[in-house]
Order: sequence, then C-alpha cells, then structure tokens
Amino acid sequence: MNIALVAHDKKKDDLVRFAVAYKPIFEEHNLYATGTTGLRIMEATGLNVHRFQSGPLGGDQEIGAMIAKNTMDAIFFFRDPLTAQPHEPDVTALVRLCDVYAIPLATNMGTAELLIRGIERGDLDWRKIVKKGE
Ligand code: PGA
Repeated sequence: MNIALVAHDKKKDDLVRFAVAYKPIFEEHNLYATGTTGLRIMEATGLNVHRFQSGPLGGDQEIGAMIAKNTMDAIFFFRDPLTAQPHEPDVTALVRLCDVYAIPLATNMGTAELLIRGIERGDLDWRKIVKKGE
C-alpha cells in the first residue's frame, strides 16, 4: 500500500508518536509525507519516507496528485482544527479528492487507530484489485 502521512504543526508530535507505536505495520508499506512531517517521522522511527514539499509549499497538492492518479491508498492527515492554515484551500482540496476517489482518510487519532488496524488486517486489500484492473 502507498500511505501518506501529514500533520499540521500542533499535531506533529501526535503523528510522530503514532508512527513510532505502529512502526511494525508502517514498515510493510510505501510511505509518503509532506516535508516537515516526513522528516520528523524519519528521525523518530528510522522509517523510509518519500518526502514531498512542505504542506504550505504544495505538498498537499502533490499527495492529491497521487490520489487523482489512483496511486495513493490511505491518508493519515492529522489536521489542527483550532488554527488557521495559510494553505487551507489545499487542505480542503486534499480532503475533497479523498472523497472523490473513496480513499480512506483519517484526520484524527481516533480514526487513525481504526485505519491502521484495518490496514494491518488487510481490509484495504481491495485497493490492489482496483489497481490491477486498470
Ligand atoms: P509539513 O506540512 O509536514 O511540511 O509541515 C504539513 C502541513 O502543514 O500541511
């Protein structure tokens, strides 16, 4: 699976802890992230993460492009709902594309726990079939 990891600044510690806790699952997959989030995760876990631009500089859009090409399978996007973001339109666009293409998107820790367990259990294996049929 191709998995994207993004966290707004006040949520980065949470996502890093999440990545540490679930490293054995994440290391089975191809990981992508916006710039700073990816760096923090690599430093904390040693996981190999493909880093896009920082979110405000276009990283969310790069992840969106993978969704549009049907090459992204799941997104962990820990949003900060209490702080205005300069790139709010990009954030909205990313969420919208997940809905357009029915890509699982976890925007908080509660859903993230379910999504990572689902990935571990193979609940998203239907994505392999969808991609093979293209
Ligand atoms: P960052 O981008 O990982 O480069 O901080 C995330 C964001 O703020 O959208």
